[in-house]
Amino acid sequence: MRLADYIRSMFQEPRAHFDKRKGWIEVVCGSMFSGKTEELIRRLTRAKIANQNVEIFKPTLDNRYNETEVVSHNSNSIQSTPVMASVNILLMSGEANVIGIDEAQFFDDELVNVCQNLAEQGKRIIVAGLDMDYLGKPFGPVPELMAVADYVTKLHAICMSCGDVATHSFRKVNVDNLVMLGESDTYEARCRTCFNEGMKNSLSQEKNTAHSV
Ligand SMILES: [Zn+2]
Repeated sequence: MRLADYIRSMFQEPRAHFDKRKGWIEVVCGSMFSGKTEELIRRLTRAKIANQNVEIFKPTLDNRYNETEVVSHNSNSIQSTPVMASVNILLMSGEANVIGIDEAQFFDDELVNVCQNLAEQGKRIIVAGLDMDYLGKPFGPVPELMAVADYVTKLHAICMSCGDVATHSFRKVNVDNLVMLGESDTYEARCRTCFNEGMKNSLSQEKNTAHSV
């Protein structure tokens, strides 16, 4: 992809839907450090400025910084409601016409139906989440949401090994748990090549440790 095309594709957003009865789903996905939450906050802030009724939800599991705020890595934050299950979003969205959902990968699979239901009620849904886990596999309900969404924006980070465009989240520590929260001390954004190299190295390290025990 040419750099100019890449930059142009980064912050694309659906054009306004003037028919108020029509809702839609936007997905903002990508690896860690790709700016997903910043992009979610940007879209929601602009809706708020336009006096639209905005509600933001996130899974209770994510309490890295603050219980009631969607916080991105650059601490540009916005008030949010932590919920246990995706069905609560349906019950709590009330009069909101714009609904933001952060860290969507940690929600249950029912989130797909919840988002579709809300969109059918005429609401604008903006979902942000990791598209792949630390093994490079599709993560939770995000891939299915990408399929049913009206608009998908895939953001990229910069590979911390070679400086290329990064699509993968590489876990630097060897822990076998899908839900492991952390920041730059635990994860690194990597391109496909550097991600695969890292995975190979950690596999051979594992074998060596197994032999020495
Ligand atoms: Zn790389």
